[in-house]
Amino acid sequence: MIASATVHDVRLTDPLRPTAGSPQLRPLILLRLEAADGAVGLGEAAPLEQYDGVSVDRVLRALNAHIALLADVDSEAGVDVRAACAAADPLPQALAAVDLALWDLAGRRAGKPVAEMLGAVDPPPVAVNATIGAVTPRDAALEAEQALAAGFTCIKVKVGTPDDRQRLQAVRDAVGPDMLIRVDANGAWDQLTAPERIRALARFNIELFEEPVHGSVVEAVARAVPESLLALDESVSANLGPHARRLCDAVCLKISGSGGITGLLAEAERARELGYEVYVASTLDGPLGIAAALHAAAVVRPDRHCGLATLGRFDRPVPESVAAKTGSMRAPDGPGLGDGFARWY
Ligand SMILES: [Mg+2]
Repeated sequence: MIASATVHDVRLTDPLRPTAGSPQLRPLILLRLEAADGAVGLGEAAPLEQYDGVSVDRVLRALNAHIALLADVDSEAGVDVRAACAAADPLPQALAAVDLALWDLAGRRAGKPVAEMLGAVDPPPVAVNATIGAVTPRDAALEAEQALAAGFTCIKVKVGTPDDRQRLQAVRDAVGPDMLIRVDANGAWDQLTAPERIRALARFNIELFEEPVHGSVVEAVARAVPESLLALDESVSANLGPHARRLCDAVCLKISGSGGITGLLAEAERARELGYEVYVASTLDGPLGIAAALHAAAVVRPDRHCGLATLGRFDRPVPESVAAKTGSMRAPDGPGLGDGFARWY
């Protein structure tokens, strides 16, 4: 199998955190596999260094190790290519690219969408949330009105700045009482401050608090605010191991952090065994990553709205097959992950 990786710097029009460190260009790494019979599969690595600490160079280093292994494989049959790649370099962002490309290739060979290959028959649409960054209350209200008009029934608002309460007040006032509003602190709080911050925002009727703190101290926070729903995001993979127990209510899984569709499905199963609710989100993925998440979601059947309506933040048209319509999305129904994505990059 011939494999090659290319880096594409895609411009964001709408970074989630309009601060000095906010990325204007979002690097995405496209992995192309071509089998001896000419069949092609595409995958994507979506590291976001400001968020997960994983650089493009680190991903390319891992992918080079994976590409060397893939060169010796003519078809994925009979060889656990994924396990071999994980043994060579276990970086989840790079494994995700390999996993997506292998699923895409398998789906194209079979002439079936990946969701169908995974056993999802006639899955329901995936309810998705709109996302509002840590912007001014005035801008947050405008974005919330647009989300309501576009048919979204859930909005995620970034928090962790001094004007969180004003931002939440503005959003709640703009959308009325029925909209689900969740907040994402990206671990900005700590064990001491999180309970008081959560109580202060709970008056806006918050659906859930995503990653209020980093790490397993979320368990102590959850005990301090039993009336609020808490979710693990950045800290999820580290807390699903063999000796893990349930620390809070829900987990947010991502193609990039879970090592692809295969890893996400395994983590979803593990999380549910432990008693968590599961939902799925992107790390500003490109259309291949979003499509992969939708195929995985068709199997997982998420318990809550998913953060997959993020392609509108790039400076180019959203491919029709992965566009959010009235607050929901569907896995593309063509073969593999879906058609026509390569030209987006
Ligand atoms: Mg998050």
